[in-house]
Amino acid sequence: MASRKLLLLPGDGIGPEAMAEVRKLIAAINENFGSGFETEEGLVGGSAYDAHGAAISDADMTKAMAADAVLFGAVGGPKWDAVPYDVRPEAGLLRLRKDMQLFANLRPAICYPALAASSSLKPEVVEGLDILIVRELTGGVYFGEPKEIIDLGNGQKRGIDTQVYDTFEIERIAGVAFELARTRQNRVTSMEKRNVMKSGVLWNEVVTQAHKAKYSDVKLDHMLADAGGMQLVRWPKQFDVIVTDNLFGDMLSDVAAMLTGSLGMLPSASLGAPDAITGKRKALYEPVHGSAPDIAGQGIANPIAMIASFAMCLRYSFNMAAEADRLEAAISAVLNEGLRTKDILSAGMTEVGTAQMGDAIISKF
Ligand code: ATP
Ligand code: MG
Repeated sequence: MASRKLLLLPGDGIGPEAMAEVRKLIAAINENFGSGFETEEGLVGGSAYDAHGAAISDADMTKAMAADAVLFGAVGGPKWDAVPYDVRPEAGLLRLRKDMQLFANLRPAICYPALAASSSLKPEVVEGLDILIVRELTGGVYFGEPKEIIDLGNGQKRGIDTQVYDTFEIERIAGVAFELARTRQNRVTSMEKRNVMKSGVLWNEVVTQAHKAKYSDVKLDHMLADAGGMQLVRWPKQFDVIVTDNLFGDMLSDVAAMLTGSLGMLPSASLGAPDAITGKRKALYEPVHGSAPDIAGQGIANPIAMIASFAMCLRYSFNMAAEADRLEAAISAVLNEGLRTKDILSAGMTEVGTAQMGDAIISKF
């Protein structure tokens, strides 16, 4: 069997607490299913700064480039608020994204049946929700040039950001969305603002052409991003895969996140281009939440986002869809039994800590 190499970067705050549960899970999978996962450990964020004076060391960066997938916890915290800008904890994640060329950010919004009743939306709006937002991560207005503040000299300044997208960038993100749709409900909704943005016109054109050329079996719709935001809140179940640019994706994925409740539940994946020889994509998996310094070290963090990120890793990096389904079903089963960490606790449920939640999920897996 091909070896399966994982690099674990727990990071700071609750990152290491959540990662500890995934480490147990990996051991259990190897033991019960002979999956042959090999793990290496590295430092990122504040913990890397304390050890090496950098947000990630070159040695750990080399390990990340060689791994089949990277599991990332969370970085940052008040302890490092004053460190120099280019070695701040977040710089570790940015370097990983840049060097691994992770251009596709996948953010699922899934509503576990047991939690539908405690959503801020009506249960019928979110019950059974399973959508995937595919956000372009390395282009667009966050990176386009010129990007500056210029002094106009008359007491006025001008702030400039530039939205730039080239054909190849749109093509490759569209390709990821169409391919993922084929493993799901086979539907893609592309969102842009072609009515006011040239990059939106091109986005629409390139997605349409890619669809015609290679993915005509997938159902494709186009929606203006503002209308899309409205529809996402009104009736999110109309969507399967949403593909959109960096800025709209940033906002729409946060909106989608709140449909399902707690930050402690949400996984994400970031994928790169397929390797020319092996066809394997570089990939990094991380919970959507941050390092949560307010609850770090107390053993009460919800490990589900990290565990669900590992489920995405099984699905997208190792073609282990059956095992990923099983792991997601184990999470659902534990929630059905009424186990809750503090962040998702509601009346009548049983409060558990991080390790108890992890153990319960592993025992169902
Ligand atoms: P970042 O800037 O890294 O995104 P943040 O401060 O915006 O960090 P988080 O660190 O995710 O956001 O924390 C936001 C709130 O959500 C905090 O009150 C935190 O305790 C809570 N929270 C985040 N993740 C979890 C989790 N896994 N379990 C329980 N509570 C969580
Ligand atoms: Mg945040």
